[in-house]
Amino acid sequence: MLIGKDGIITVVWENKAQMNPLLLTEMCDCRCLMCPQPPKTHDRTLTETSKRILNLVKIESNQTICLTGGEPTLLKEDFFDILRVINKKHPKSTVMMLTNGKSFANFEFTKRFVSLRPKDFLTCVSMHSDVDEVHDRIVGVKGSFYKTAMGLQNLARFREKIEIRVVVSRINAHRLESIATFIQRNFPFIIHCTFMGMEITGLACDNYETVWIDPHEYRAELSRAIRVLSRADMNVSIYNLPLCLVEPKLWSFARQSISGWKNDYLPICEGCSVKSRCCGIFTTSGLHQSPYIIPQ
Ligand code: SF4
Ligand code: SF4
Repeated sequence: MLIGKDGIITVVWENKAQMNPLLLTEMCDCRCLMCPQPPKTHDRTLTETSKRILNLVKIESNQTICLTGGEPTLLKEDFFDILRVINKKHPKSTVMMLTNGKSFANFEFTKRFVSLRPKDFLTCVSMHSDVDEVHDRIVGVKGSFYKTAMGLQNLARFREKIEIRVVVSRINAHRLESIATFIQRNFPFIIHCTFMGMEITGLACDNYETVWIDPHEYRAELSRAIRVLSRADMNVSIYNLPLCLVEPKLWSFARQSISGWKNDYLPICEGCSVKSRCCGIFTTSGLHQSPYIIPQ
């Protein structure tokens, strides 16, 4: 736990959690319309706190460290220092990182990252469209699509373990099948692709009318997208969508993916026969819940 100067207590690490996120920075070189963690100028205490946590905690073999932000790679040397601390203190740990992938467009950066990263490392790259203008509109910065695509190719040149994350919003929901086809043709080397329901917090609240779409509206399109990748024998999942908002034939692809501290069920879920398999809802989304959440 961390006790701030204002007396506020923050839980920074849960010993029993399967996955613990470490917020390394809030700065980012994107400004996604649905960003749950709106970009801010860098506060060095976040990185220092993460290093202290890594120096103090004991991590079991079934637990994962998740490096997140903001965009962790923008920390440059401090980012590499974090990788060094993990290598020293937790060399056998499973590590994943959430990134927009743009830093990896720089081949020398990618090379350095590969030489320093912990052994068991998964890079999760967000890619929200098969069309450059659509992706750039979603992430708020022109030229991002090509940098992310180049980053994915550079990581693949080193045979890195890569996951692609597509956050579904009103802007890209009608293109999911095309996005899946694009991913299958251009990034067949990834080990996992996931289509993700949106958390309505941060910038997603400010841009609610632009980004929110009820998952019930895109269930058929999501089915077509999943079919493209699964037929190509690629590993594909659905994150953050309750089972009642997904076509039953896709339930085997849906994962219980919402972090414990922001995960719950609605009172009507009590009578649902599939509750034990369902990911439930984001409590952080507050009252923004689909009216199609209905017990099965
Ligand atoms: S969602 Fe991720 S990539 Fe987009 S602005 Fe937020 S931190 Fe940056
Ligand atoms: S009713 Fe609740 S528990 Fe059942 S599928 Fe929907 S969200 Fe999940």
